[in-house]
Amino acid sequence: MRYISTRGQSAPQAFCDILLGGLAPDGGLYLPESYPQVTRAELDAWRQLAYADLAYEILSRFITDIPSADLKALVAGTYTPEVYCHARNGGDPGQITPLTRLEDGLYTQELSNGPTLAFKDMAMQLLGNLFEYVLDRRGESINILGATSGDTGSAAEYAMRGKHNVKVFMLSPDGKMSAFQRAQMYSLQDANIFNIAVRGMFDDAQDIVKAVSNDAEFKAKYKIGAVNSINWARVAAQIVYYFQGYFLATRSNDEQVAFAVPSGNFGNICAGHVARMMGLPIARLVLATNENDVLDEFFRTGVYRPRTSVETSVTSSPSMDISKASNFERFVFDLVGRDPAVVRELWAKVDKGEAFDLSATVHWKKLPDFGFVSGRSTHKDRIAAIRLAQGRYNVMIDTHTADGLKVALENRQPGVPMIVLETAQPAKFEEAIREALGTEPVRPADLAGIESLPQRVVVMAPDAAAIKRFIVERV
Ligand SMILES: *Cc1c(COP(=O)(O)O)cnc(C)c1O
Repeated sequence: MRYISTRGQSAPQAFCDILLGGLAPDGGLYLPESYPQVTRAELDAWRQLAYADLAYEILSRFITDIPSADLKALVAGTYTPEVYCHARNGGDPGQITPLTRLEDGLYTQELSNGPTLAFKDMAMQLLGNLFEYVLDRRGESINILGATSGDTGSAAEYAMRGKHNVKVFMLSPDGKMSAFQRAQMYSLQDANIFNIAVRGMFDDAQDIVKAVSNDAEFKAKYKIGAVNSINWARVAAQIVYYFQGYFLATRSNDEQVAFAVPSGNFGNICAGHVARMMGLPIARLVLATNENDVLDEFFRTGVYRPRTSVETSVTSSPSMDISKASNFERFVFDLVGRDPAVVRELWAKVDKGEAFDLSATVHWKKLPDFGFVSGRSTHKDRIAAIRLAQGRYNVMIDTHTADGLKVALENRQPGVPMIVLETAQPAKFEEAIREALGTEPVRPADLAGIESLPQRVVVMAPDAAAIKRFIVERV
């Protein structure tokens, strides 16, 4: 399997060669040159498999440059009930991403049972193991630089802690994350993890990462890398739980299901799109946004109009606050018939800060073939959805999952089970649960009192030169 760029002007690459990088040299995103097709016989066989075995079957279609036995061992070491140990609602931890039944034909799928209680652990844990394996084999090292407003940074740190040849420099906005999120990251004592709280907002932290990464000489000399959501390996790892959710919600492979996906950078739902392209019987992919609704607008109107994100409050769904959806280009590449010239033309506009409009094109007529529908959710909606889930089903959900449930309920089809992807546990967003339900969410026992652990973090000015010096002194 080789990987091509959505902009068509970079040479095809093998999986291990795109694993450690970011964008393709032509500015595009990598995608497999074709989607592996799953036969009916394979689906029947996969229905019986445990999660790690299913993950191996799927990932081995995309990763053909790691020997089978090694890939099998990496995957088996990643998807264990010890790593994904925070199952709730009586789910079987052995299933890794178990379903919770709300009522007949309506489920949530727990993707947030990993170390940091958000779905990003599903892919990031595999990424940590793949990085270590490939770096060891090549005798190389990497220094990951990132900016986070919460979920991504902690998932990356828990995935990379203690890994050989990997250091992580994670910038976060000083004082802007919840006490729990700060404690998750800053209490890590691993020597290869460096937390830097930047005096400023998330965007200031993000700008520093961009400034450092744009310094090609510095980037090469100090082996600066990233683990952001455009990384293909993250998308690939996420394909697996769509298959698992399908098998758990159906009895036979003649049935169809729908997935509702709380979306921001389009990484999660992009994996659903790939699963569907592989032949998984998905009737609908229901995309849910919060107030930052660029994607909902696109799927309703054909107009993609990136704009400054509005910061939602601590009682909102902050991990869906995006202005541009970084993975969206992958879907548009497929929508326009995989024509890189069209993608180049569209993203020439996006990169200038302009909108594009597909509504009058032949491409737009193809949209129904892809199964997407969309909707948006506001603060009022998500508080109401948290109350509904608790009141009617006795299940506590977080704010992001609540946005998904709200839009899911607007898009059900008779006879088609709807699976709402649970992207975070309510314990991560205590303020919102207090507002909606007047109670405290239950926190997993192993995370009780983490706020009182000693913290390892340096506070710095939003100054790229100072942060470069900080990195140079530690690599
Ligand atoms: C990252 C995140 C999302 C958004 O996922 P995308 O892949 O960016 O669309 C939704 N919910 C939670 C809790 C997240 O951490």
